[in-house]
Amino acid sequence: MSKFYEVRTRDGAARLGKLALSESMQTPLMLRLESGDGLAVVRAGDSNFDDLASEETWTALRGTVLLPEIHPSFTNVTSLFTDFFVLAFASSLLRSPRDFVRRVIDTRNALPPDVALWVPAIATPENAAILFYMGVDILDDTNAVLKGYQGIYQMEDGEARISDLEDLPCNCTVCADLSIDELRARDRKERALLLARHNTLLLDKEVKKTRACIRAGNLREYVEMKVRASTFLTAVLRLLDFNEEPYFEQRTPVARKQIMNVNTMESLKRIEVKRFASRVLDRYEPPARQILLILPCSARKPYSRSNSHTKFIEAIGAYRGSIHELILTSPLGVVPRELEVVYPAALYDIPVTGYWDSEERDWVSSCLRAYLNKNQKSYEVVVAHLGGAYKEICTGVADELGIEIMFTCETNEKATSNEALNRLNARIAELCTDRKRLYGYEQKSGIVKAMADFQVGIGAGSELMTSKEGERLKITGKFPFHKLSADKEVLARIVPQYGLLTFTLNGARRITNLRSSYKVEIGDFVPRGSILAPGVVNADPQIRVNDEVVFCGDKAFGVGRAKMSGWEMVQSRKGVAVQVREVEEV
Ligand SMILES: [Zn+2]
Repeated sequence: MSKFYEVRTRDGAARLGKLALSESMQTPLMLRLESGDGLAVVRAGDSNFDDLASEETWTALRGTVLLPEIHPSFTNVTSLFTDFFVLAFASSLLRSPRDFVRRVIDTRNALPPDVALWVPAIATPENAAILFYMGVDILDDTNAVLKGYQGIYQMEDGEARISDLEDLPCNCTVCADLSIDELRARDRKERALLLARHNTLLLDKEVKKTRACIRAGNLREYVEMKVRASTFLTAVLRLLDFNEEPYFEQRTPVARKQIMNVNTMESLKRIEVKRFASRVLDRYEPPARQILLILPCSARKPYSRSNSHTKFIEAIGAYRGSIHELILTSPLGVVPRELEVVYPAALYDIPVTGYWDSEERDWVSSCLRAYLNKNQKSYEVVVAHLGGAYKEICTGVADELGIEIMFTCETNEKATSNEALNRLNARIAELCTDRKRLYGYEQKSGIVKAMADFQVGIGAGSELMTSKEGERLKITGKFPFHKLSADKEVLARIVPQYGLLTFTLNGARRITNLRSSYKVEIGDFVPRGSILAPGVVNADPQIRVNDEVVFCGDKAFGVGRAKMSGWEMVQSRKGVAVQVREVEEV
């Protein structure tokens, strides 16, 4: 439990926070050990350790050394009144990538979320970003200074002995005014101080860079790029992706404004990708239509705004009401047309070369296989307007499942060529018994319903969209800015910037599952603006950052957007838990 630390912004497990030292400081933080004033750190077994069990003596920022469980002085720490923990024997993290992952994640899991974690004496400009990505809040310059005294010059992507360098590849205040020969000519102590200064400045720059990434919500992309220079850190990231999925799932927002850039093999393992794929299976029901049409993705999002999809839609236009469209894409797998606005379907970018590596093929195939396995009974016919690798994936899955898929593209043909489009048009006309366009309301309501199910769970959409006696539902606004109203009262709106559906109080009242599974119970007050963590009595553990939630207490009922995960709202003593949209006194 902390008193002088507050987490303000999250990007996955990484956090921007405020530490009330003698002056207020931001985490991720690089502490300069020479100026360590204002910090009171005690070890288990120290004479004033007992003070940490009470709140009364707590008047300044304080921290506790966290000993491994095997240590004789190990104490269970979660109930202590302390602002930060110092991970003891952190240098043992460097023994293997596995130890690195295990100890940091175990430690973070053992600590309350509103307490900062300091991993001392191991920070380098190379590993700082991934340490913060894992949920560490504080590093220090010990290693940078030490390396300086050892004659080691640190760089963004590694280090070298000063004797091996030909040049100083840096523009910091030390390197800008000095040539390598001048540096070598200095006496030992002065050289060590200059090197230490350069190493510290570089680490500080890296910490600032990480803070900027967290603020921008793209730390994952930065980490994928950073680890490339080191096999050790690449192994750390892969182990995190393979073994620590629950840890990151609990901390990853359900939606956000930032584009997800899928540039590396590790990007396929992102929580956002896995979560989308599993929700398409668990929280989506296709509409009753005769034909399933599988289409390739487009670079422009939402897909239906792209040139290629405009052509596909034109080709099937007169029969669109009998067709359900499914988009095949890497890395999301399959995107039903109604979910094309949802995060991250409308907010991802991937380099398109026409070449798919085997891991990408396997993943996308598994998504298509799972979808068809579950939903093929809903369709009479499956048509695929796909060429190249898309077609190969689709053929493989059809063979495995023993289902027949009609292809309307030749293998090496562009799906947007006139021949292919004509073939698509002719095949659809042949399969459909009569012309049936997809009319405005049916199309729009399909989107709103699917998005509600996807966010809250199956059934939410139909509850939201069932009109009560005498009531008239209406969807206004141009795609994708749809707004659902009942007799002029707004129920829900699509917010395409986030890929989310937001609910009004009236909309939320209709959805049982929103009220039961996305519920935040608050104390005896009427919130204005935002609900702070201490005001939360209980919150559903499945709530994630940016989820739509309902809050209720003795005096208020309302809707808003979660700013931390449900478990974090319950365990934290500081910070904004929910941003209030609408509230009503009860
Ligand atoms: Zn420098």
